[in-house]
Amino acid sequence: MRKLVTYLILIVFVISVALAGCGSSSNTTSTSSSQQNTANTSEKKLPVIGVAIYKFDDTFMTSVRDNIAKAAEGKAKVDIVDSQNSQPVQNDKVDLFITKKVNALIINPVDRTAAGTIIDKAKQANIPVVFINREPLPDDLKKWDKVYYVGAKAEQSGTLQGEIMADYWKSHPEADKNHDGVMQYVMLMGEPGHQDAELRTKYSIEAVKEAGIKVQELAKDTAMWDRVKAQDKMAAFLAAYGDKIEAVFANNDDMALGAIEALKAAGYFKNGKYIPVVGVDATVPGIQALKEGTLLGTVLNDAKNQAKAAFMLAYVLAQGQTPTKENIGYDITDGKYVWIPYVKITLDNINDATQ
Ligand code: BGC
Ligand code: CA
Repeated sequence: MRKLVTYLILIVFVISVALAGCGSSSNTTSTSSSQQNTANTSEKKLPVIGVAIYKFDDTFMTSVRDNIAKAAEGKAKVDIVDSQNSQPVQNDKVDLFITKKVNALIINPVDRTAAGTIIDKAKQANIPVVFINREPLPDDLKKWDKVYYVGAKAEQSGTLQGEIMADYWKSHPEADKNHDGVMQYVMLMGEPGHQDAELRTKYSIEAVKEAGIKVQELAKDTAMWDRVKAQDKMAAFLAAYGDKIEAVFANNDDMALGAIEALKAAGYFKNGKYIPVVGVDATVPGIQALKEGTLLGTVLNDAKNQAKAAFMLAYVLAQGQTPTKENIGYDITDGKYVWIPYVKITLDNINDATQ
């Protein structure tokens, strides 16, 4: 009997040990759920990157900001704000980011000469800054080693745009409407002071001349990168010069599209009436116009790679590391610049234009 009792006690003991084992396995579950909690907390601790865009209502910059958000997925929290085309508004937004102690900044300045002030503030708070799209003056960039610029060489876009026009002119003798051997053109410029506006204007015409074509500027005016303003300016050019205009250069696609609207209203692009129009950016509506045959050509301003490079720089800097080609995936020039190449886009390679 005693033996039986001891035996039973032993069995009970074995069972309870087994149960405890189960218990410990359920403990494992709770450990893993607590691990999950840790993962959640670390997710909350993703680096925060403050992004200020010069204005949201800009076709190209909208593509850049969408691509920044995409590049950040799972890596960092990006807080993207609209500076409403006002430098004082942008300065306030930067102050707010600094107060919130973000880990890095991506700034698309409203006025690129204001970069110096932003750098001073960021340096004092030890928050690295990556500028995009509007190139700060070299002296400002030199103020601190944790300041970078991601952009594209404006000269290149002008040259490529000019080459598209020159190729067309050479293969279409009828483009010289008054048969004087000179290309009479009009130019729609972006915002004064913007490196892309100044240099595209200059280098597009240089490239035409370089191709051995004589040029005459009939009219040149700024339409501030804006489609509606460009439509008005083009209508005014047409009122003044009519069919004397043989070519239209626009510093970006939005303005080229505005010009095309005005040209359509003047009877162009039907019944064999044509005029070559070139833009820059390769935006979605720009590519659509290329397909429709109203836009002769454009130049890819690579929003996707500019956004990715800017994000990777900010992300690496936000973690206190030094950016290198290896950790950001892009070449860094002079320890400050990431240059994304432009690509000439015509109907022949329309599929290279992926924004
Ligand atoms: C783009 C324009 C844009 C401007 C904004 C340029 O690089 O070509 O479309 O409006 O940047 O700063
Ligand atoms: Ca002519």
